[in-house]
Amino acid sequence: MAFGRFFLPGPTEVRPEILAALAQPVIGHRGAGMTALLREADPRLRALFGTERPVYVSTSSATGMMEASVRGGVRRHALCLVNGAFSARYRDLVRDCGRQAGEYAVAWGEAHDPAEVERRLRAGDHDAVTVVHSETSTGVLNPLPQIGAAVRAAERATGREILLLVDGVTSVGGMVVAPEEWGVDCLLTGSQKAMALPPGLAFATASERLLQRAATLPGRGHYLDLVEFDRHWREHQTPHTPAVHLVFALARQLADVEAETVSGRAARHHALRERCCAWAEERGARWGLSLFAPGGFRSPTVTTLALPAQWRGPELVAALKQRGYTVGAGYGRLKDTTIRIGHMGDHTLAGLDALLATFEEVLDR
Ligand SMILES: *Cc1c(COP(=O)(O)O)cnc(C)c1O
Repeated sequence: MAFGRFFLPGPTEVRPEILAALAQPVIGHRGAGMTALLREADPRLRALFGTERPVYVSTSSATGMMEASVRGGVRRHALCLVNGAFSARYRDLVRDCGRQAGEYAVAWGEAHDPAEVERRLRAGDHDAVTVVHSETSTGVLNPLPQIGAAVRAAERATGREILLLVDGVTSVGGMVVAPEEWGVDCLLTGSQKAMALPPGLAFATASERLLQRAATLPGRGHYLDLVEFDRHWREHQTPHTPAVHLVFALARQLADVEAETVSGRAARHHALRERCCAWAEERGARWGLSLFAPGGFRSPTVTTLALPAQWRGPELVAALKQRGYTVGAGYGRLKDTTIRIGHMGDHTLAGLDALLATFEEVLDR
């Protein structure tokens, strides 16, 4: 089937060229072939993550790296910023790893207030903050540079080290990110979102001070130990057998990203977001559709549409499916009242236009 009909907000559609890269003979993961692949991937991954730091490659879903960030990055008590399903998962994961999870929750569909982050950190004894950059369940983009500045200000005011752990699962690869400049200690993503690879790999950065803290933390586990990832990264290796074929696909995709350029990729996602939001405001409004996320806080990779009373989410998703298009249902409690369009990865404006035209036919029913 032709590319451009699968708009789930993850896993996102994978181009045939990437799928073809999977069909290669297996290689030994300790051999020169794998080392060469990882060595070649290294600068390209760092460009995509906007960092000078290493980017570790994990064979797990993104949640694995979320857990790694907590095991290595939270000493005792984290302030967890919650505004949707994935940020709630980050909070739960902190608790499941035996740490205390303080919560700064705002309503689903809202972004966090950096001034409030600073206030809570000054008043508390947190040693880390968890935040989801682009909340895929709602389509809200949190103001990460400002949140980073708030965390740094609280550190200066209290003299306490506070690490900033960021789930960038639907931001990395879909916009320009700058973890060092923003004061981010760990930035992570999974292969199947804005990187437009099949599911199965996850990626994370770690600041020097995070690695130093991690080395002092007991019980940080074995498989998801960032200290071990770092040790092997130096040799262009992974601690355990990676999903070798996904690394083949990664190599192909990173070469293509380099050709498009990271800023070109970000510009394409920006244009996709603008097109989708303009359509909702100028045309979708006729059928009573509206944008769920507030202006200025809309994700470049996923748009959540609030539905008029006469439509239920699953009905719309099914009607689009009948016409050959896949979009995301509303997440969890938003299932009936919203749908989500994942315009990330390798999607094009022309592809999005075709989806929106089909959407209009469905709404006109
Ligand atoms: C999809 C997603 C995750 C979970 O990723 P898995 O790869 O399924 O573990 C976490 N956070 C965000 C923001 C996501 O969109």
